[in-house]
Amino acid sequence: MEKQYLLIIDVPGIKDYVFGTDRLVEIRGASALLDKLNRKKTESFLQNKLGDSAVKRVFSNGGAGQFVITAKKADLENCVRELKGFFAKKSKGGLRLICGIADFSEENYAEALTHAHIELKKEKEEESIIPCTQLHTGYLQECKSCSGMAFKLDDYAGEKRVLCAVCAEKVEYGTKRGLWKEFDKHCEEKGMEAERPRTFEEIGDRCRARKGYTALVYADGNAMGKLVKKIGSREHFKFFSDTVDDSIREACHEALYENCRPVQGKIPANILLLGGDDLLVYLSADTAFPFALDVAQRFEEKTEEKFSGNSFFSELLQGKGLTISLGIAYGKTHTPFSIMFSQAEELLKSAKKAGSQDKMRGEYYAPTYIDFHLSSNYNQSKVSDSRKSHLLLHGTRPVKLYQKPYSLPDACELMDHARNLTEAGIPNTRLKRFGYAPSLGKINGTLECLKLYTRTSKAQRKVIWKALERFECMPNIPWKEIRDEKGETLEATTVLSDMTELAGFMRK
Ligand SMILES: [Zn+2]
Repeated sequence: MEKQYLLIIDVPGIKDYVFGTDRLVEIRGASALLDKLNRKKTESFLQNKLGDSAVKRVFSNGGAGQFVITAKKADLENCVRELKGFFAKKSKGGLRLICGIADFSEENYAEALTHAHIELKKEKEEESIIPCTQLHTGYLQECKSCSGMAFKLDDYAGEKRVLCAVCAEKVEYGTKRGLWKEFDKHCEEKGMEAERPRTFEEIGDRCRARKGYTALVYADGNAMGKLVKKIGSREHFKFFSDTVDDSIREACHEALYENCRPVQGKIPANILLLGGDDLLVYLSADTAFPFALDVAQRFEEKTEEKFSGNSFFSELLQGKGLTISLGIAYGKTHTPFSIMFSQAEELLKSAKKAGSQDKMRGEYYAPTYIDFHLSSNYNQSKVSDSRKSHLLLHGTRPVKLYQKPYSLPDACELMDHARNLTEAGIPNTRLKRFGYAPSLGKINGTLECLKLYTRTSKAQRKVIWKALERFECMPNIPWKEIRDEKGETLEATTVLSDMTELAGFMRK
């Protein structure tokens, strides 16, 4: 007998699959393949097997999906088994699909969803075996990207590499337009040609402020899990996930178009992951900060506008939009991608934490925060280690040489003041000395700043004064004293190093 079922799908280990290599072509290929299977192929596969009218999509993006299916249980189970095989075949065993099925009726949506999630979780725990067995006979070569069993010699952008079947398939997809296609279309409508760079080097070469410097921007939605739990109907779930997915894509494409114009014929950026509430973009260091701030603003505006037309969500969100948090890892072109990625992840977490502690937060709202770090200044691979050992001075009171993370309005002003500093014509060497001054310690830092300050022209002094004043670092240059209620100093921080770090990427 035919009945209605709720089918949910998930692809575990996406980040290992997509980011487990240091090559741009493989990363974007893996991401493109996943996107295609997830957003387009899953629904059409189900429709082909069960009939168009039997499949109603709730959502299918960001590596997950939800469908309402009308079918016989046995037919649905067979179909799901084949769908799993399809995912494994298309990715040569690189991707594993897991599913959860539950009885469905419109009235019991929330309950069905909970049941399906329990089934999904069971499957995730049961079958956590790696799909391909790895043989090491000694005669065979290892895949240069993942150490799997080699399969073929690959040639991309003048580099020959021995690769396994999984990685070779990623390259195959990486040469296609993938996630770039929709951005390309956006640019075409604006009358701009959007040629995509082939390698990380081609992106770093196009950094106009400091050649060879790049950045990885990692963003994801705030308070999404909490919001999703409040949704009680299929229509609301569909509306919610469509709104989030559309808004993050539109915001990304528009912000890329505005902030990453072509340099030497190519756009200095690549989209590595986009959809659901996730965004990962690798770009030239000079474009990263303006791009990130722009994306955050646009996402909030778009979701606010779209949700304002829906009484359920506008009430729940009290008329506000949704927000994202952002981590930006700056580095050099040759910084291993795995380091950039783990730092961006760490920075995103720290930004989220700051947002959740902000006094503007609400039950389903946390303001956007941004954290960033330049890895080439330090030798630690963890951001927190660099901050502990290089950016924290111990005296009678702790002195923090940074004020990161920043709220979105603060980050906007930080960028404006950093730009003003470079545009005021303060020589680069002097700006660098300013940036280094806080690390001389509480007293010597002040003396060095005063020395540099008095030697600067009157017009430039005004720019510096304004910048430091905005972040409460002028009265006791370059420090901001954090005091308790009695007026006792707890610690001191400074904006100066953060600002000069950023200024280094503003010079044209
Ligand atoms: Zn491989």
